[in-house]
Amino acid sequence: MRRSLACTTLLIAAFAGGAHVRAADDPLALARAGTAAIEARRFGDALAAFTKAAEMEPGDASLCFGAGVAAFMLGKNEVAQARFECALERDPAFLPAATWLADLHYRAGRLADAISVYETAQLRSPKPRDLQPQLDRWRKELELQSRFRDARSEHFVVLFETAADEPLAADVIGRLETAYRRIVNAVGVAPSQRITAVIYTRGQFNDITRLADWSAAAYDGRIRVPVDEASREAGELDRILSHEFVHALVSQVGGRTVPAWINEGLATVLEPAGSGGVEATPARTDKRRAVSQLHGSFVGLSQRDAELAYASSARAVRRLIERRGIDAVVALLEDLGRGTPFARAFQQRLAMRYEDFSASMARGSF
Ligand SMILES: [Zn+2]
Repeated sequence: MRRSLACTTLLIAAFAGGAHVRAADDPLALARAGTAAIEARRFGDALAAFTKAAEMEPGDASLCFGAGVAAFMLGKNEVAQARFECALERDPAFLPAATWLADLHYRAGRLADAISVYETAQLRSPKPRDLQPQLDRWRKELELQSRFRDARSEHFVVLFETAADEPLAADVIGRLETAYRRIVNAVGVAPSQRITAVIYTRGQFNDITRLADWSAAAYDGRIRVPVDEASREAGELDRILSHEFVHALVSQVGGRTVPAWINEGLATVLEPAGSGGVEATPARTDKRRAVSQLHGSFVGLSQRDAELAYASSARAVRRLIERRGIDAVVALLEDLGRGTPFARAFQQRLAMRYEDFSASMARGSF
């Protein structure tokens, strides 16, 4: 599901706009500061401002909502859930709080909760039909998932459809644990929570994720992996599982504000065979993308643009690791998880200005 932060900040600003601001600790002034912080992607500041404002003005749903959005972006899922629920208690017809809460449940694998939030929202929405397509997709997914079985290991839960897939699930879980050991050892941080992976057929995967054909797998709170003839080839399944595991790790350490080029670059560089193959792509096309243009998800890109984006991302992350060390990159992720704005965290941890880095990578001189 796509939600627009710009649209969200307008909603919060509607509360803060036009009012006379009397003092710095005025809830209106705090709400304005929180809205400005969300617009500037300073989610740590936004969370602090909205939390304080909500304490001073406990009846206001939009203040709870603002705190929820900031916490969600920081990957603080429990705080975000509590804040969205608080917004809905104050104002049960507050649709954005319902859609963000449902999305949060969905990403945590709580599909039935996501559906229930939508069903309640639909009863109160002036345009109940707008929510129907998403609800239909989730109900269909729940119906499929209710047939799934699970296999567990120390760090993973793997969901699969039929008893005949049990050996495959055991194989996947073994490969995930191998990737876990190798990657945690390389980066020096471990996920704090057990990670779920769902095994699909290609048809089920396309149906549920609706991603471009070039997508080998996905991570949206859970690892979703289609297993077909191609992915069962030697090495390919390990590559895919390792790549998606890194996304899970990045999201647990850095929250949801990590630029796509760092997320994809790290996942690619840490693949079992490294990033050599992926980085070779621009040599054929003679094009480079500046990493500052690669902050948003690659999902909507064409295959060719995606190849370029992955190549530029992998090269940038590999060079950062070679020149500054993996610990500096991990420290950057940890800063983002704490709410430090990206450019500041980058300069702090990688000892150069982000614009300078992006420009020298594009020139090939870093
Ligand atoms: Zn990826």
